[in-house]
Amino acid sequence: MAASFAACSPGTAELAAGDASIAANGSVRLSAPSVPRNVIVLISDGCGPASFTMARTVASRMGIRDELYLDDVLVGSVRTSSANREVTDSAAGATAFACGVKTNHQAVGVDAAGNPAKTVLERAEELGMATGVIATKSITDATPAAFTAHVANRYEGEAQIAIQQISGGFDLLFGGGRTSFLPADAGGNRKDGRNLVDEARASGYNVVFDKPEWDAVTELPVIALLAEKHLAYEIDRDPSRQPTFPDIVRKAIDLLDDDPDGFFLMAEGSLIDIAGHANDAPAHVRDILAYDEGVRVALDYARANGNTLVISVSDHETGGLTLGRNYRWNPEVLAQVSASQDSVAAALARGGTVRSVIEKNFGFADLTDDEVGEVEAASTGNAMNGALSRIVGNRALIDWTSFGHTGVDVNLYAFGPGSERFRGDHDNTFVGIQLFELLDAR
Ligand SMILES: [Mg+2]
Ligand SMILES: [Zn+2]
Repeated sequence: MAASFAACSPGTAELAAGDASIAANGSVRLSAPSVPRNVIVLISDGCGPASFTMARTVASRMGIRDELYLDDVLVGSVRTSSANREVTDSAAGATAFACGVKTNHQAVGVDAAGNPAKTVLERAEELGMATGVIATKSITDATPAAFTAHVANRYEGEAQIAIQQISGGFDLLFGGGRTSFLPADAGGNRKDGRNLVDEARASGYNVVFDKPEWDAVTELPVIALLAEKHLAYEIDRDPSRQPTFPDIVRKAIDLLDDDPDGFFLMAEGSLIDIAGHANDAPAHVRDILAYDEGVRVALDYARANGNTLVISVSDHETGGLTLGRNYRWNPEVLAQVSASQDSVAAALARGGTVRSVIEKNFGFADLTDDEVGEVEAASTGNAMNGALSRIVGNRALIDWTSFGHTGVDVNLYAFGPGSERFRGDHDNTFVGIQLFELLDAR
């Protein structure tokens, strides 16, 4: 096909195979090359430009790879402010992508006036496409919620988000958040007494809770709630209990791509953000690299399939990461760390001494008395995260400026039919608006 097209239209040979077809009379017909059949949107929650640099550099130093898979498909950047804040949260950030509208802090799937706004996933559902959502936090967390639910406040509305997610007709939900779907007497935290797992099963869903059950899934519709709340960081993950992010993306694509009407998948690397909030650079890096492997799965599928748009974008930056003190930073320090700050804090809470726990998990045998004292004085939360983060940062020569989000523009990546639209620096709502246009042009 590509060869015969090139032969009759020299000068347009850069068009990919599949961009043109030969009509019955032998003439060349351009067949809407810029409208994809399938759409995969990947969201690296809380991953700013410095985080991608850090992950790439550490991966190279570890001998994993010298380039991120994302690096090939960078097309621009996205401005991240919400309707009422210069610094967005994940709710308003994801609503911009899911609905194409600016909304307020903590709002999901509604506009700034509080009115429900249709999401691209709901549009895909209306078009008969197979639809799926992946998150490594609770599936009711802000980013997946913005694609599947409509509530004015993500925290007050969390119980409602779960109800909307099992009743929206979506084909696949993979993530954490089991307790949000179960009442107290079934091990959950729902105050309305509803057992949404039973309700979902009654309406036809296969609902699974652990990796062996998830491994056995072969059909849609399916809901996998693989943790009580969030999945484990990649750096702490037990392979017998939890699949990798690329494994989850691969399985979702395998299940969704049987639909003749195409599919829409949103896949979030959610824990990148949690590690940023904790200022935990080694955990942040490992989750970014797992995310990047998931992107590779999507790109490999799209390259073979020829009719799939892949978008990757962050909703905002988290932590205000900066790389370097006095013209140096040391990626090898991050490469040697083998557990998250949460794991270290848990080991300390079990009675381990600071020097022994840090040496075992971070590999540093040179703690100063001041550093030890700071960890001993910290109990939990930000004080502990700050103390542990400074121990890593003092050796890696990196710094964080916040336990929250920041307002910098974030990277935008795109590949496949329609990807040309995304070039440039755009408001975050532009992404959602383009996705709607592409769906409606099918
Ligand atoms: Mg998120
Ligand atoms: Zn966050």
